Amino acid sequence: MDALGTADVAVLGAGAIGLLSALRLRQAGLSVTLVDRGAPGQEASHAAGGILGAQMEGHEPGPLFELGLRSRELHVGLAQELRELSGIDVERQTCGMLELAFDEARRGELAQWGAWQRALGLRAEQLDAAQVQELGGPPSALAGLWFPDDGQVENRKLCEALRVACERAGVRIVRAEVERLECARGPGAGARLEEGGRLEEGGRLEAVWLRVGEEQTRLSAERAVLALGSWSSLLPGDPKALQADAVRPVRGQIIVLRPARAPFTCVMGDHLGYAIPRLDGRVLVGATVEEAGFDKRVTAQGLAQLLSSAVRLSPLLAQAPLVDHWAGLRPASRDRLPRLGPCAIEGVTVATAHYRSGILLTAITGRLVAQLVTGQPVEVDLAPFDPRRS
Ligand SMILES: Cc1cc2nc3c(=O)[nH]c(=O)nc-3n(C[C@H](O)[C@H](O)[C@H](O)COP(=O)(O)OP(=O)(O)OC[C@H]3O[C@@H](n4cnc5c(N)ncnc54)[C@H](O)[C@@H]3O)c2cc1C
Repeated sequence: MDALGTADVAVLGAGAIGLLSALRLRQAGLSVTLVDRGAPGQEASHAAGGILGAQMEGHEPGPLFELGLRSRELHVGLAQELRELSGIDVERQTCGMLELAFDEARRGELAQWGAWQRALGLRAEQLDAAQVQELGGPPSALAGLWFPDDGQVENRKLCEALRVACERAGVRIVRAEVERLECARGPGAGARLEEGGRLEEGGRLEAVWLRVGEEQTRLSAERAVLALGSWSSLLPGDPKALQADAVRPVRGQIIVLRPARAPFTCVMGDHLGYAIPRLDGRVLVGATVEEAGFDKRVTAQGLAQLLSSAVRLSPLLAQAPLVDHWAGLRPASRDRLPRLGPCAIEGVTVATAHYRSGILLTAITGRLVAQLVTGQPVEVDLAPFDPRRS
């Protein structure tokens, strides 16, 4: 393979995060090369449920909660923009999310959860058993917490729309393994990073080395976005952009049922699982949360858990045929916060570790990455998401 020449910015990883980052950077006038070893959007961004659950995933107030709310709002405009740019409807809906309580203890937890969100001015309604059933909830539920402003997007269509929009905007998409970063070292090159109690000299990005089959090729780029999902901290380099254990995979399995008629139109969940009715009539039931390394296999135990969730959330799903199942790897850091911002290598912006909310957070992440890379003021305080934290 010939050398790939130069790009203003190399975006590494074409999941939802890399795809929207690439689009936003191209829209800012930069030449962008987007690299992935597979087809775009085939890993976690393909496996996800697509819940835009800013409030449902918000278990405490704080910076991540704020980021989710901003991003949920941005998805409205993003869906419209992608329809215009790609011709694809990403099926974003404000369908609401109903969290169920099956016992008194959980009813109490939902009451507290709703109270602090309402105190922030958000809609989070306490429902009794009759109201839960009106929304299609099961007769066995004692109560519910209703988040009418949460929603969903068809994440596979989102990725496809982003890919088409990138291509039409002039992003160069290259299928290759990202092998390593090439950095200049020496005085003045990059930031100094305290790692394990000692100061390390940083570097300045000069190029990215890629591999296609047996052939290596060099892409000159002084700026890069590191969006390799669960594989982000495996990327070698000297210095490394991320510490070895900065991001690790957390497996999630999903099953798909096709009832004759979906028993509800909102996302329905409890502390063990959730069910997502798609517009085409399928109901996705997810998701396991497992430490299984990079193993993406579906297991008997995973299926058993998900089938039991399905029937608990709606007995009407018990007769529905099982039509699909899959597993994917959520990129997670130890504290479950994203890693977003500059790192030890000057020129490299990290955008990863979005864990359970990467589809939700795609919209705001693309925007923040563009601000970071182009040197504009960044609209969010990114200190809690510093990629260099342990
Ligand atoms: C079962 C499940 C359910 C989920 N449900 C939801 C949900 O309902 N709502 C929500 O908001 N989020 C959800 N998530 C989380 C969400 O899917 C992720 O946080 C998000 O997709 C991460 O996007 P990403 O672009 O960072 O990673 P990915 O989509 O994994 O993309 C990373 C890309 O990097 C590429 N790559 C990696 N290493 C290399 C290399 N060396 N060279 C070249 N390419 C490389 C991969 O091929 C991949 O395409 C779910 C995740 C799972 C697994």
